[in-house]
Order: sequence, then structure tokens, then C-alpha cells
Amino acid sequence: MKEKKKHIAILGSTGSIGTQALEVIANQKELFEIEVLTAHSNCELLITQAKKFKPNVVVITDQSKYKKVNNALFDLGIKVYAGKEALAEVVEMEDIDLVLTALVGYAGLKPTIRAIKAGKNIALANKETLVVAGCLISLLCKEYGVSIYPVDSEHSALFQCLVGEENNAIEKIYLTASGGPFRGWKKQELSTVKKEQALKHPNWDMGAKITIDSATLMNKGLEVIEAKWLFDLKAEQIEVVVHPQSIIHSAVQFEDGSIKAQLGLPDMKLPIQYALGFPERLKNSFKRFDFLDYPHLTFEKPDRKTFRNLDLAYTAMGKGGNMPCILNAANEIAVAAFLKDEIGFLNMSDLIANCMEKITFVPNPSYEDFVETDKQTRILANKLL
Ligand code: NAD
Ligand code: MG
Repeated sequence: MKEKKKHIAILGSTGSIGTQALEVIANQKELFEIEVLTAHSNCELLITQAKKFKPNVVVITDQSKYKKVNNALFDLGIKVYAGKEALAEVVEMEDIDLVLTALVGYAGLKPTIRAIKAGKNIALANKETLVVAGCLISLLCKEYGVSIYPVDSEHSALFQCLVGEENNAIEKIYLTASGGPFRGWKKQELSTVKKEQALKHPNWDMGAKITIDSATLMNKGLEVIEAKWLFDLKAEQIEVVVHPQSIIHSAVQFEDGSIKAQLGLPDMKLPIQYALGFPERLKNSFKRFDFLDYPHLTFEKPDRKTFRNLDLAYTAMGKGGNMPCILNAANEIAVAAFLKDEIGFLNMSDLIANCMEKITFVPNPSYEDFVETDKQTRILANKLL
């Protein structure tokens, strides 16, 4: 008989979600066992984590760091692999029960597909995978009988609201957005914004890419597409509401008009723990929410004229096919360029819109079409910079 512990692989263990997932797991040692840890280039932290959590395997995708990691972990009997292909292979290991995809960007697509095909359930933080290839991922999950447990706080909220409602149709969902550091700003002020300002999120401490996405509202755009695939929704059923306090993490409205919402302090450890522990709610000592600390919960319409990325995402979702893949790849190039001070804040939307116009549209893309679209979009976006 299999022991009760869930065996977890964390892809991207050195990032914001990855390190918080390890905090959760360290507090629930009797329930979880780490099988795999992976990182892109932060080998020092990966080594420290491996020494503490004793996984079977670690992967460092940056091949130049292999020797250093292997030298540090060899005596502990931890297997060390390097490179992108290794990342896609380790998720198939027999002992893994659940793969937490906490890596950032398009790089998550291939290992997620491999994990699903190996029958592993997914705790999904890597929203880009669903944005790029939601249709394909949904089909694969059905075919291989795999569940996706959302980690993104909004989608975790929706998922929690839907427990016990399996036979009740969703009328619509309200996806809440903090509005980011530039809520209320107009185009003129945004034209001179620097990365240091954009990297200061009012409510959440996250990796650089998602923090910029939150400042441009692209994060909410990606989340709209993520919600479509996770909960099988139409565009008209997804409404974004700005809620600057980030206490209501999202809400579902059913066909009788009743709305269920999930509330809590902005702390990713809770949605991470829910995804890892599902269907159980695990006792913890995270700080509790107090209504009296928040006498005013407020709501606004998003400013879609100033923050164009939200509409670009709705457009990409409406078109379907490889358009969200184009949106995602162009956005990854735009954000990286903004972080290197190569383009201005508002130019990011221009670049994405330009790529969406110019890259060949494929209505029913295969996996290979997504790979090609991602590649071509990156080439074009880099040229247009
Ligand atoms: P991060 O930048 O802090 O960490 C990213 C992790 O992925 C690191 O471990 C890094 O080594 C690894 N990585 C980076 N590039 C890679 C590549 N090319 N190949 C393999 N591994 C690579 O990012 P994060 O903020 O933890 O976000 C991770 C994912 O979770 C993103 O998709 C993000 O949108 C999503 N998410 C994050 C938060 C949050 O609070 N941070 C909330 C919701 C969703
Ligand atoms: Mg979110």
C-alpha cells in the first residue's frame, strides 16, 4: 500500500511561488515529500533547498551551473540533471503524485504537457501555459484523467467557491484586480515610468515578470484567459473588477443571482497550500483577516483605455487559435525589454498589438504550431523593439 504522503515535484522552486511552497511544505512535513526541485540559474538557493528537503532529483536548466550543483549534492545521493529536456523528463518519474508548476513563462508548457501525459495532477501557478495552449491542455487533461488545481489566488478563490456546486451552472465570474501601482494614472504620467516604480506592487511580493504584468494589467488579461480554460467560460461571463485592497480574491455568480466569494489577506501561501492539500483544508498559523482592519472594501472599473493590455488579451481570447500564444510571446519580450530599460511602459502594448497583427494566424493549432508561433513572435518582437 502506498504511504499517505503526497510526493511533490516543484518546477521553479527558487522563485516567489516556489519558495513559499517550500515554506508551506516545511510546516506540513507529515503530509508532503519533495521528489524534485528545479531552478533556472539560482544554483546557490537550489543547493540550500536540496540540502534541507532531500529530493530525489534536482534539475538546473542553465547547463553551465551543472558542475557546481552536482559537486554540492553528489555525496547526499541526490541526482542532478541539467537542461530543458531534463526538466520535461523528470516530471514523468513514477513516485511523483503532483507537479507544482511554479516556473515563469512559456518554458512551463512542455514540462506541463509531459506531466499530464504521465498522468500527474498539476498544481498550476504557471498561467502562461494555459494562456498559450489552454485548448490543448484541457483536451490532454480529459484524455489522461488529470486534474489541475489552480494556485493563482483569483482562480483558487473561484475553485474554492465551486466546491459542492458541480451541478450548478456559472452565470458569470468576477475576477478581482488590485489595479497595480499605477491605478488611476493616465497615459502622460505612464510614458515616463521606470522599472523601479513598476516593480513596487502595493499588495503582493512576486517575481519580476508578473509584477510588471500586474502594473500593465496584462496579468489580469492572462488571468481572464486562464479562467476561461479552467472553468470553461465564455468571454461575456468574465468580468474584471478593480478591488485595490486585494481581500476578495474573486467571486462566482450562479444562475439564481447568488454570489459566492473567497476572502483572505493577500498571502500566496494560502492558495498554494489549498492546491497542494486539496481536497483537504489544512490547519495553519497564517495571519488571520480581521474585518475591522478593513472597514472599506472598494470596487472600480478597470481603465481599459489607458491600460490597453487587458483589451488585447480579450481580443486574443476572442480570436482563439494561436492568438493568445502570440500575445504571450510578445508580452514576454516586451516585459524583458522594459526591465532592461530598452522600451517605455506604454510601448509594451504597442509591441504586443503589432505582433498580433503581423504573425500568421492559425485557427486550430497543434503543439508544433504553438512552438513555431512562439518562436516567430519572439523573432518579430525583437526586430520591432
Ligand atoms: P519568479 O521569477 O519568482 O520565479 C520563477 C522560477 O522559475 C524560478 O525558480 C526560476 O529559476 C524558474 N525559471 C525562470 N525561467 C525559467 C526557464 N526558462 N526555465 C526553467 N525555469 C525557469 O516567478 P514567480 O513570481 O514565482 O511566478 C511563477 C509563476 O507563478 C508565473 O507564471 C506567475 O505568473 C505565477 N504566479 C505567481 C504569483 C506570485 O505571487 N509570485 C501569483 C500568481 C501566479
Ligand atoms: Mg493572480
